[in-house]
Amino acid sequence: MSRSSTETASFKGKPVRERRHLLILGGTGEARALAAHATAQFARDLRVITSLAGRTRSPAALAGEVRRGGFGGADGLAAYLRATRIDFVIDATHPFAARISATAQQACALLDIPLLTLSRPAWVKEEGDHWIDVADAAEAAIHLPALGHRAFLTIGQRDIAAFAGVGGVHFVVRLVDPPLGALPLASYELLVGRGPFTVADERLIMERHAIDVLVSKASGGASTAAKLAAARVLRIPVIMLRRPPQETRISVAGIEDALAWIERKLEHSQEVVP
Ligand code: NAP
Repeated sequence: MSRSSTETASFKGKPVRERRHLLILGGTGEARALAAHATAQFARDLRVITSLAGRTRSPAALAGEVRRGGFGGADGLAAYLRATRIDFVIDATHPFAARISATAQQACALLDIPLLTLSRPAWVKEEGDHWIDVADAAEAAIHLPALGHRAFLTIGQRDIAAFAGVGGVHFVVRLVDPPLGALPLASYELLVGRGPFTVADERLIMERHAIDVLVSKASGGASTAAKLAAARVLRIPVIMLRRPPQETRISVAGIEDALAWIERKLEHSQEVVP
């Protein structure tokens, strides 16, 4: 699929390197940072397009180009990759966005397009942490009443319905966007906010709302880690939803490594014909 170096254009008789096209599957702070660095570092050689699912109403500004909305599964993504002449893909989506990651694996394998996964490092338990590891929101809901009565729910909107049947618990729910309707919870209040948060912010929320249990996804990364430090200090248990398993072939944990991968791909694909 990747364009060959023989497609090199010429200007005034001299070979001009054609820009390669990178698609970043985004929706995370890491994807935003990668787009900023990649556009700055490879401006001459690379067109950078970030794809967003379109869930957040006012996403933070992104360097390079942006497209929004689902592709329509692996076939849809493959059609987009072909039409946009994408040379490389970096999946920098959230560790819990398992469907789009699987879709990217399939579409890139189909077209033989190099795919890199940028996966933020998992959080590591520290002394004083009391984490209850669960498979998903349904299992979290089962454990919750035995652990506390005022829960700080920080798992996004999609899985909240799993807690609908939980009795005797008041929820403090934090979301990036205000929900369009009422949440399916018997007793709750809403906080709207987007990370990064500080430990002081998180501690204040937990103290002000008399939180006695935190529910979190094992998202990893620095942007939302402060709640774990606050829970540690306040000796609050954390119900931690495990990351869904993902089949990744080439994976890096940081922006620097992703940029080095891009650089290698550019060197490999842009050998100018003399
Ligand atoms: P998901 O379950 O893996 O994806 C659901 C569907 O949304 C996909 O099948 C795809 O639709 C579309 N989609 C997802 N990410 C996309 C992207 N970057 N560009 C274009 N289409 C995309 O994902 P999710 O958990 O709903 O997350 C949606 C977005 O929010 C992701 O970009 C992710 O990085 C971000 N996010 C997710 C979480 C989380 O906890 N899940 C947290 C923070 C940010 P089609 O099948 O039609 O292509």
